[in-house]
Amino acid sequence: MPKIDAFREILQFDAPTSELTWLKLGGPIEYLARPRSEQELLALLNACQEDGIETRALGDGSALLVSNVGAPGMAIQLSEPAFTDIVVESPRVVAGAGAKLGRLVTTAASAGLSGIEGLVGVPGTVGAAVVTNASTTDVSLGQWVTSARVATYDGKIVELSADELVFGYRDSNLDVALVLSVELQLDPDSAETLTKRLQKMWIVREQARPDLKQGEGYARLFKNPRGERAADLIKDAGFSGASVGGASVCQGNPNLVKTSPNCSSADVARLVALIQEQVRARIGVELESELTVW
Ligand SMILES: Cc1cc2nc3c(=O)[nH]c(=O)nc-3n(C[C@H](O)[C@H](O)[C@H](O)COP(=O)(O)OP(=O)(O)OC[C@H]3O[C@@H](n4cnc5c(N)ncnc54)[C@H](O)[C@@H]3O)c2cc1C
Repeated sequence: MPKIDAFREILQFDAPTSELTWLKLGGPIEYLARPRSEQELLALLNACQEDGIETRALGDGSALLVSNVGAPGMAIQLSEPAFTDIVVESPRVVAGAGAKLGRLVTTAASAGLSGIEGLVGVPGTVGAAVVTNASTTDVSLGQWVTSARVATYDGKIVELSADELVFGYRDSNLDVALVLSVELQLDPDSAETLTKRLQKMWIVREQARPDLKQGEGYARLFKNPRGERAADLIKDAGFSGASVGGASVCQGNPNLVKTSPNCSSADVARLVALIQEQVRARIGVELESELTVW
């Protein structure tokens, strides 16, 4: 009998990607698990190892493109309360990987802790934000991380200190493990000033989001190349408003793709490849996709 049968209570089979990703498309994920404790998570990882099941982390699905045929293996989502706590012991904050990044940003600001407010409005979970070193022009999350607690895919807990963590531009050395929580050391500041700053930044970011009709999904297409905005490059290459099948580039923010309910994952993949090719040919810049493809 497969070892993962013991986890039926927390397993979903053929989980619908349309409900798990912001793009709202793609085939099903073979197994989806939401463990309720660290102990249950480790036991599940061990069971997957023994059954030879490929395992990966699912955050909020804001940067995921799942193929039309679906994703084989196990996706683990740390959305249960055991993984979403945020504890403030000023100037230190410990955040569970399943907590939303937005909640971490507002919690820190209300506690009078400054540093990460520039990340307001960046979608997704703390876990994904740490792994991808989420950043804006003002800040990158990694610069504030002082330690991380991770589970290796063979079921071991590892604590990594600041000098063992490597953060690059939209990159880290944590992409080989499942991040469980991170510790940040922030700068004390006035909660009132920080909250006002957050509100202003939030308004600016919200203006960049597309207006969606019922059933439409969206995602950001490319990482900003250093010192440049992917949105400007896409516009300069003439792709504002362009579409492939059911996937179209947003007029207001050309670095966002909108998907209609009849869109396929292949449409999005083709649009990404076409823009990359044309921006390279016309402007000479290599755009790197923001989307993780399963
Ligand atoms: C409108 C919009 C604006 C955006 N703006 C920005 C921006 O300004 N800056 C920026 O950096 N990004 C931006 N993004 C991209 C997106 O917000 C980030 O990539 C985000 O970190 C994805 O989080 P998620 O929880 O949705 O991850 P998912 O889409 O679920 O997963 C993304 C990747 O993270 C991995 N992952 C998820 N959780 C964990 C974990 N616990 N441990 C290990 N790996 C994990 C997944 O396996 C996958 O490879 C934007 C996206 C949108 C749609």
